[in-house]
Order: sequence, then structure tokens, then C-alpha cells
Amino acid sequence: MGKRYDYLVVGAGLYGAVFAHEMRQRGKRCLVVEKSGHIAGHIYTARVDGIDIHQYGAHIFHTHDAEIWRYMKRFTRFNHYINSPIANYHGEIYNLPFNMNTFNKLWGVATPHEAAAKIEAQRRAAGIETPHKLEEQAIFLVGTDIYEKLIKGYTEKQWGRACTQLPASLIKRLPVRFVYDNNYFDDPYQGIPKDGYTAIVEHMLEGIEVRLNVDYLKERAALSTLAERTLYTGPIDALYDYRYGTLEYRSLRFETEVLDMPNYQGVAVVNYTDAQTPFTRIIEHKHFAFGAQPKTIISREYSNEWALGVEPYYPVNNLRNIELYNRYAAIAAANKELIVGGRLGEYAYYDMDDVVARAIKRADLEPR
Ligand code: UDP
Repeated sequence: MGKRYDYLVVGAGLYGAVFAHEMRQRGKRCLVVEKSGHIAGHIYTARVDGIDIHQYGAHIFHTHDAEIWRYMKRFTRFNHYINSPIANYHGEIYNLPFNMNTFNKLWGVATPHEAAAKIEAQRRAAGIETPHKLEEQAIFLVGTDIYEKLIKGYTEKQWGRACTQLPASLIKRLPVRFVYDNNYFDDPYQGIPKDGYTAIVEHMLEGIEVRLNVDYLKERAALSTLAERTLYTGPIDALYDYRYGTLEYRSLRFETEVLDMPNYQGVAVVNYTDAQTPFTRIIEHKHFAFGAQPKTIISREYSNEWALGVEPYYPVNNLRNIELYNRYAAIAAANKELIVGGRLGEYAYYDMDDVVARAIKRADLEPR
């Protein structure tokens, strides 16, 4: 006799929701189980006093892919938010990403030529030809002043490791440009969903059975009998009881406060780039949506070392972890009834648009 569901989807985050949605469109029966008490995983937003709180950290949807943008717009309307974060270094304010506004404030230079010459002189003085670790990569890209004021403290707080130890690849995410442009992202499509992120996932999961507060790893035997195939989007090492060891993550902690004022910092994101301030950034949620409420809600974001039982956020992509991940991925690949996907399943630092694209692609590979 056939099973009750075609797919058991473990995790109601963005990857699981897109996959379940796609499979339902193809006429498949899906059951979604979610360990926590809410859907939407880390893109979960909760509306408090008319303000959408990004409970697991700021999420700004951006993509270069017109298809993905169109796809997302089936589930939400986006506002016209453009991410232009501010850096606060001991009270000095700079524009991010590093651009002509930043260079002008730092050095008084007015032209791209002067800015480039300044960076070139600092790079030469540091004597770096082929950058290896993050510190060298940063100085190579933007010179010592920006490294010292805007990168070193922030990065060491975020990763809990010295910039001389971290891989250069981390900093390749950071845009540098010689134009007066504070838009953090290069992508042509960007915005914040007008009804919050949770509503997107709700729409994706319409017509699909979702069970919250179900820990698949504890109820694996019973749940597996229900469906022909399983998509697992949790941490891949947990799926195999950490038999080869635990993959490392960085975790985050948020201190959220309601303030009796309409506007606390004048922008959605302020990065505290010095080493002394214990948090990495302050998010003022209303500014993602141009909120005009009389009160405001802010979250201070602290970066923590991860340990078993703590919420995982960022994979730590060093050689040890990559090799360990590959061993787990090899066992998973041998199981033809199992699909493992998403940020935790693939142990990868994906942006939301990557997650959506990968989930659609994965659904396309499934048998008709
Ligand atoms: N970064 C930095 N200073 C900043 C912002 C970012 O040095 O003010 C570096 C830091 O190393 C960080 C990386 O850029 O790990 C990526 O930052 P981004 O803000 O893109 O990461 P996310 O928002 O995904 O945490």
C-alpha cells in the first residue's frame, strides 16, 4: 500500500516552504514538520505595535535574478527599501558599503582618483602582494585606515577569531566602490515584504499540512513511515547523531527593547565597528518599512560561539568543517529516499535568493 504522503518536509524555513510549495504544485502530497513553534525559520518576523520584528536578525531581500524576483512577488508585495547601513566607530559615523562618501569622510578626498591613490599608498606601505588571510585581503582591498576603523573590530566580534586567522574569502562579500552610492547591494531587485516575511512562508505553505513543535530527530521512526521521500533542512551532522563530530557555527543573540520615542538611530542598521562595544550592530526595525509609529523597537545583535543546543546561524567554513561536512554529505547522498537542503543541510552561507533558487531547482529534479 502507498504511504499517506509523497514528501515529508523537515523544517518550515524558506527552503522547506519553497520545496513543499513546488511539490504541491506538481500534485504531490506533503507533510511539513517543524521543531519550533512557528513557521519561516530564520526569516520569521513578528508584528509588534505595527512594526515587523526580524527576530533572527535583519533580512533584506535582494537578487540579480529577475525570475526569482518574479517568483517572490507571487507571495508578497515588496516595498522600496534600499539597504544603506551606517558604521559607528567610537562615535564617528561613516557610510557603508565603502564608497566615495566613506572615503571623503575619512580622508577629505573628493575624487575617485584621489581615493584610489590613498588606498594604493596604504597597500604599498603594508607591503602586501598576494593576500592570504582576511587581514591582508582587507588591507589589500581598502588600505589600513578602513581596515582598522571599519573592518577589524566588527569582523573579530562577528567571528570570534583574529583577522590574521580568518579566511580571506569572508571579506569578498564586502563591496568597495568608487562612486557616491550608499546602496549596500549591487542587485537590481531589492525590498522588504510589506506584510513581513512570515506571511510569505504562510502563502507558500497554503493548502499544506504543517505540524509545529515536532522534533523529527526524536520521532524519526514514526514520521518516516508516513512518506515516500524526506527533505531534511536541519543541521546535517545532527541527522547522523554527530557520529564524525560536530560542525561549528557562529550563533547570534538579540536584546530587543521597545523605546518610547519615534526614531532612535535614523536608519535600519548601524554597525558598531570598534572592538569595545560588545554588540556588532543595532537594528531599528521600523526603518525597514518607513514606519511612522510613535514608538520604536531596536535589537542589539551579539555574536556568540556556538555549542550543541544553541541556535546555529553562520557556518564556519574552514578546512576541518568542510571536510567533515563532505563526510556527512556522502552518507546522505547514498540514501535515495532522502534529500538534504538549505543553509543548515548544506552547511552554506546562502542569501535568501540563493535558497529560493536552490529549492526550486531541487524540486525540478524530483521524479514526476
Ligand atoms: N564587515 C566589516 N565591517 C562592516 C560590515 C561587514 O568588516 O561594517 C565584514 C565582516 O567581516 C563580515 C563580512 O563583512 O563578516 C560580511 O558582512 P555582511 O554584513 O555582508 O554579513 P551578514 O549581513 O550576512 O551578517
